[in-house]
Amino acid sequence: MSTADVRDVIIIGSGPAGYTAGVYAARADLKPLIIAGSVTAGGALMNTTEVENFPGFRDGIMGPDLMENMSAQAERFGAEIRYDDVTEVTLEGDVKVVTTAEGDVERARTVILATGSAYKELGLPDEKRLSGRGVSWCATCDGFFFRDQHIVVVGGGDSAVEEATFLTRFASKVTMVVRRDELRASKIMQARAAADPKIEMAWFSEVAAIHGAEKVTGVTLRDSRTGEERELDATGVFVAIGHLPRTDLVAGQIDLDDAGYIRVNHPTTATNLPGVFAAGDAVDHTYRQAITAAGTGCSAALDAERYLAALD
Ligand code: FAD
Repeated sequence: MSTADVRDVIIIGSGPAGYTAGVYAARADLKPLIIAGSVTAGGALMNTTEVENFPGFRDGIMGPDLMENMSAQAERFGAEIRYDDVTEVTLEGDVKVVTTAEGDVERARTVILATGSAYKELGLPDEKRLSGRGVSWCATCDGFFFRDQHIVVVGGGDSAVEEATFLTRFASKVTMVVRRDELRASKIMQARAAADPKIEMAWFSEVAAIHGAEKVTGVTLRDSRTGEERELDATGVFVAIGHLPRTDLVAGQIDLDDAGYIRVNHPTTATNLPGVFAAGDAVDHTYRQAITAAGTGCSAALDAERYLAALD
């Protein structure tokens, strides 16, 4: 193999982390290849409407427009974007090998992993259609849109309680839909929910259907013991049943934590393998925001640049 065939940087993923890494790596003249994914290119924000908390857009911006801007910005500086899925990687050694579904085999001295994480879904027929139209997975992102409205939060763990208590800042009422007659959340979170006058519990319940033509208007709740159903009016449905980091691709090669997120040497983006960096929601348990993903994408490109400079 000639060294000419070996790129400096391959970025896997095209959410805010991947594209920001692309902008920085391209402006450092590293000619990055971004493998964007096929149907899911652009990442999580392709599934939403208005993004109001990404700095620089005073009046907000539609999620897909934001992602289109980011990809065009990366291309403007010379990033190459390929709409294909990575199916296999070999990350050990000086030269990393990345194979795609279409059969391309690419080699690079550094790889930036920015594959994101998926919110667990309820699996209901109208859930996707109404995503960004009342169905949400992120209270920090969307709570603001639900001032004085009735919101349903699905889930009984710590993050569900956290979402529910945060949403009481805006909502007139929050109904937590919980399968059993107790929360899985820690004692302190349970106490917080119990003490909040705006939170009501729908015990032994699950969401059987979400309704609404253009926007969410309500849900059908099913009793998890009897199967009996009842209707509940609500304009927001927040799904808080967990996340799955997209790290199957690298499992067994780089260190993951117990929940499957990529371990990095904070505050850098370095993984346990030299030349392999990771950014965005595939690393981040805590913040999971577009701006934090973009921030760590920037860090990953700078880390890769410094790693390459030390080799040369
Ligand atoms: P992602 O955006 O998830 O992108 C990961 C990318 O990796 C995808 O493009 C995927 O195709 C690609 N990929 C994965 N595996 C492979 C592979 N094997 N080969 C090739 N490509 C691969 N955050 C905010 O700050 N404000 C908001 O208003 C907001 N609203 C949201 C609304 C919704 C509906 C959702 C789902 C999320 C929202 N978020 C919001 C959260 C935000 O979208 C995420 O925090 C952010 O997108 C994470 O960026 P990322 O780059 O780490 O991953």
